[in-house]
Amino acid sequence: MADFPLAPGSTLGVLGGGQLGRMLALAAARLSFDVVILTPELDSCASRVAARTLLAEFNDEQALKALASAADVITFEFENVPAGVVETLERLGVAVAPGARSLAVSQDRVEEKTFLNACRAATVDFAAIDSAADISAALDRLGAPALLKTRREGYDGKGQTWVESHADAEAAFARIGGVPAILEARAEFARELSVIAARGRNGEVVAYPLGENHHENGILRRTRAPAIVSSHVQEQAEAIAARVLIGLDYVGVAGIELFEFEDGRLLVNEIAPRVHNSGHWTLDGCEVDQFEQHVRAIAGWPLGPVAALAQVEMENLIGAEIDRWPALIGEADARLWLYGKDEARDGRKMGHINRMRPLERG
Ligand code: AMP
Repeated sequence: MADFPLAPGSTLGVLGGGQLGRMLALAAARLSFDVVILTPELDSCASRVAARTLLAEFNDEQALKALASAADVITFEFENVPAGVVETLERLGVAVAPGARSLAVSQDRVEEKTFLNACRAATVDFAAIDSAADISAALDRLGAPALLKTRREGYDGKGQTWVESHADAEAAFARIGGVPAILEARAEFARELSVIAARGRNGEVVAYPLGENHHENGILRRTRAPAIVSSHVQEQAEAIAARVLIGLDYVGVAGIELFEFEDGRLLVNEIAPRVHNSGHWTLDGCEVDQFEQHVRAIAGWPLGPVAALAQVEMENLIGAEIDRWPALIGEADARLWLYGKDEARDGRKMGHINRMRPLERG
């Protein structure tokens, strides 16, 4: 196992080749770390800026051995890595951050909400669902309509359907493919917020100012940060982040999605055990952005400041919106981030733009 803090010039392994891996590799390179990407995707957008790529499936034993021997610490840029992969890497004697438990908790919505409630981070009421009969039984307690989500592998609103009534239970279960699921009470929230937080190897926890998130068709459209919130809400979010990260014995950056109610109450929607799209504003709004923060945390380096230096509106560029680049690159007080993906498919995140203005005080 490597000694922490890692020396400059050490190697970081990243599972996944998407834009989060790309921005991690860029941040790592600035601090002289080499990044090795493991991805099954030929010519991935992270590979284009990384020192090396291992082209293989995540559960390819040979590739995992090669990664473990090349890297001083390994992290991931998406959470649907098969759970056994992290265990294999840990068995091979390489440090993985965040660890297997963080991954397991965030991969299963029932485990996740059970964990959150156990560490006093409140969520909506929920029930584990294995059949249409379970839905009917839970509906009386949770109220209708309630939201049925697959336990695993849902993202960007996929694998979710509203259950309108008892009569809809069979059909709703079929709509999500009849797989293990969770039924959630409807949250009548006023806003969706998120907190990007980090925990270092020495146990220090920091949290960036909150972001306010707007979705379209289940995909994040824009984040405004720092969100204008009461000090009570910011403090609640920081307390939630600390409880979650300490509870998971977490090392690295995590994104925690929150629902804010009219009365200022916060409930946790979900935990992303990685850098997060709603934290991209930190690239241009903070001295140390979420990617550098993650690199620092997993390398055992001191965490950096999290204060906002500007008001930022981050807008995702989805699919063909990338074609607007000639106008976007000419905008004043804005910075364009393009991910280098060759095919602008519908719903694919191709880049984002951060628009900056002077800081407002809430
Ligand atoms: P998720 O995949 O859990 O992030 O959910 C995607 C989106 O669905 C969230 O960003 C919310 O807008 C909405 N949503 C999720 N859970 C609930 C809920 N229990 N009640 C109301 N809306 C929800």
